[in-house]
Amino acid sequence: MRDTRNSLSGNGSERLEFNTALLHQAAPCDPATGATLPPVYQVSAFAQESAEKLERVFHNQAPGFAYTRIGNPTVDAFEKRIAALEGGIGAIACSSGMAAVTMALLNILQSGDEVIAGAGLFGGTIDLFGDLRQLGITARFADTITAERVSALITDKTRAVFTELIGNPKLNIVDLKAVSALCRSRGIPLIIDSTTATPFLIHPLEWGADIVIHSTSKYINGGGNAISGIIIDSGRFEWDCSRYAGFSEYKKFGKAAYLAKLRNGIWRNTGGCLAPFNAFLNLVGLETLGLRMERICENAKRLAEYLQTVDGMTVNYPALPQHPDYALVQSQFGGRGGAILTLRTGSKERAFRLINHLQYALNATNIGDVRTLVIHPASTIYAHSTPEQQITAGVYPDTIRISTGIEDIEDLIADFAQAIAQL
Ligand SMILES: *Cc1c(COP(=O)(O)O)cnc(C)c1O
Repeated sequence: MRDTRNSLSGNGSERLEFNTALLHQAAPCDPATGATLPPVYQVSAFAQESAEKLERVFHNQAPGFAYTRIGNPTVDAFEKRIAALEGGIGAIACSSGMAAVTMALLNILQSGDEVIAGAGLFGGTIDLFGDLRQLGITARFADTITAERVSALITDKTRAVFTELIGNPKLNIVDLKAVSALCRSRGIPLIIDSTTATPFLIHPLEWGADIVIHSTSKYINGGGNAISGIIIDSGRFEWDCSRYAGFSEYKKFGKAAYLAKLRNGIWRNTGGCLAPFNAFLNLVGLETLGLRMERICENAKRLAEYLQTVDGMTVNYPALPQHPDYALVQSQFGGRGGAILTLRTGSKERAFRLINHLQYALNATNIGDVRTLVIHPASTIYAHSTPEQQITAGVYPDTIRISTGIEDIEDLIADFAQAIAQL
């Protein structure tokens, strides 16, 4: 239809500015109707005109769709836009962020393998590593992910390094250049959960990561209205079949070996596909990612600056000059510290009372919503962790986590001020 848009979509070789890319990169109008957004193909199956055609579709020998668990045009459009945005060779969307984490790992790991992981990971991911132990896969945790710590944990069984860039809720920042250089030198893939950083702060594949995952339930969806996740591959890692046994039959796909294995294997067979309607909600949300991130990062910074003036409270936000990773915020994220801050209030009772007195900040277990959300992590998301695990994750009995929304900052500061006044 409109060739101008298709010509912009390309393969990511042209560099569009961020907000323009969100609207015009890999975003062709619907060829059948000119619809400006991909239609929602809310169907389970796709009929083909002949048995021969369906056979070819099933064997990836002809373009087309067969069954939504295996592929769906709305989901496909979402995958292509995220892959282009992150600079990957392709992406696979999943039913949740946890499904993306699980499948990104199980696509390469088998019994006897080890993963090195940051101890400050999202609580669900820490719990998952507990489950993986029953499959014979061992996580070795580093309290912080640095080249030195990772290097010290590598054994001949290490098959992946997995970390978040901005720990949630510890808010420590990984030096991606240093860690990816180490992983490359040791022939180990680096998998980055970039949920809290978002493509607005960084494209980890350009900094040397091999695979990126997002819980797209958060900032990419942006409206808090659908659960989903995505896995993006750089196509750069060389999967040596003597170390990654499952890859022998996928070597023929070259750079696409990881995605081909995932799509034809664990992702398809566990049925963790993304629903077409949720893909559509994400496509809508994605278009305003830049505007929302600009606003919510600024709100987080302003709220942090206010909270650090309050007696008896300790605020943690990466873009405050006293934060230990402030230099990395400047070099890696262009000075932006993300949209999460934590506050130590003095006691669990004070934390609860503060949460209970807030009017606009909702008490909910989510991040990346347009609404400001607060939670007491120790009694909720980290309830399954040991006290030691909680402390390495930056979770204390008096910690509250704040995920800033797009409200006017004057109202947010006033809301926290009135709640603090009632302590
Ligand atoms: C929320 C989250 C996940 C899990 O995503 P779901 O969509 O809730 O399954 C994984 N990693 C991080 C950093 C998260 O914030």
